[in-house]
Amino acid sequence: MKTQKLITGLLVLQVISCIRHDQKVQTTIKENESPNYSGPIIDMHCHAFDQIFFGGNDYLNPLTGKTYKASSTVDSLRIETLAKYEEHNVVKAMVSDGELWFDYAPEKIIIGNDHHNSIDELRQRFKSGKLKVIGEVAPNYDGILPTGESLNKYFDLAVELDIPIGYHLFPGGPPGGAYFAYPKTRAFQGKPLQFEEILFNRPNIKIYIMHAAWPYLEDLKALMYAHPQVYVGLGVIDWVLPRKEFHHFLKGLVDAGFGERIMFGTDQMIWVETIDDAIEAVNSADFLTLKQKEDIFYNNAAKFLGFTEEEIKTHKSQ
Ligand SMILES: [Zn+2]
Repeated sequence: MKTQKLITGLLVLQVISCIRHDQKVQTTIKENESPNYSGPIIDMHCHAFDQIFFGGNDYLNPLTGKTYKASSTVDSLRIETLAKYEEHNVVKAMVSDGELWFDYAPEKIIIGNDHHNSIDELRQRFKSGKLKVIGEVAPNYDGILPTGESLNKYFDLAVELDIPIGYHLFPGGPPGGAYFAYPKTRAFQGKPLQFEEILFNRPNIKIYIMHAAWPYLEDLKALMYAHPQVYVGLGVIDWVLPRKEFHHFLKGLVDAGFGERIMFGTDQMIWVETIDDAIEAVNSADFLTLKQKEDIFYNNAAKFLGFTEEEIKTHKSQ
């Protein structure tokens, strides 16, 4: 009898422990789930043009073998980009030369202008409410490094006006771009640690490194660790890189603890299908929690751009 009770008791315990074990497994699966994010999105890297660049050609990406269809006119580029934004719930976009599109979607467009404008021109535009970001600043196409003397005044202006500056760090252009389009670019120009003195001398600068300085992951981690004011944008690398490499790079940044300083971007140029792929690239990163995806797609940029609680509430209810 005693033995029977003991056996029964042990069985009950085993059943309970099985249930507990099952619950634990269930919880673990739940915590690791990475559902698709479907809330509001901020695109920190978009382009408007006053003429169709890149010869108006479709783009065959040599790294992935995928071809992207070009918009045929500047108007169709605008219409097709804004349609993609509606489809994907993109509520705000930092658009280089965004004044060209502003009147078509004033609630959405954050106007960016770059270093090809004089300081006076930028200051004028800021005064008239038509400049929110200095960017995309990409002087490497002219062979100029971030430390180039001519750029100091643009970093200083960003601090003075208290607006963000978006700086392109990337070894291109397209792969091999120096050989057929940008003879002054070199891969080393994309190295992130060049920014150290610029940052150290401007601790309050609002800066984001566009393309996240791929592929210099280790150097970027050092830069983000040493300089907490640095954010990064995922434009271009979320569709131009093979998915595995993009995820490897993104995971490296998230694992290092920088998940709250990474901002989504597309850099669609004249190929609007890249917007679908860029969103899919982040959503398919199954190492991210839903909260981490929400941070990348919306929260981090909302904080970086200084949106009010009210604006954030409005976006999240859309
Ligand atoms: Zn760009």
